[in-house]
Amino acid sequence: MDFADSAQIQEELLRQIALAEPELKKNRFSKLHCESCGRSIPEPRRAALPGVSYCINCKKQMERGDGKAQRY
Ligand SMILES: [Zn+2]
Repeated sequence: MDFADSAQIQEELLRQIALAEPELKKNRFSKLHCESCGRSIPEPRRAALPGVSYCINCKKQMERGDGKAQRY
C-alpha cells in the first residue's frame, strides 16, 4: 500500500465530514416548530442558531423574564 495515497484519502474524507457537519447539526438539533407556541421557526433563524427551539416571539417573552428556561 502506498502511504501517501492512503493519507490523501483520509484527508479528503475528513474534509468532507467537516463540510457536512454544520448541515447535520442543523437537521438534528433545530426544531421546525417553536416548542412553546408551535409556530414554524423561519429557516434563517434556524440557520443562524443551530439548536434553536423557540420562535422569535417566544424568545422575546422569555427574555422579558417569565421564569421559563432560556434556550436561544
Ligand atoms: Zn413560539
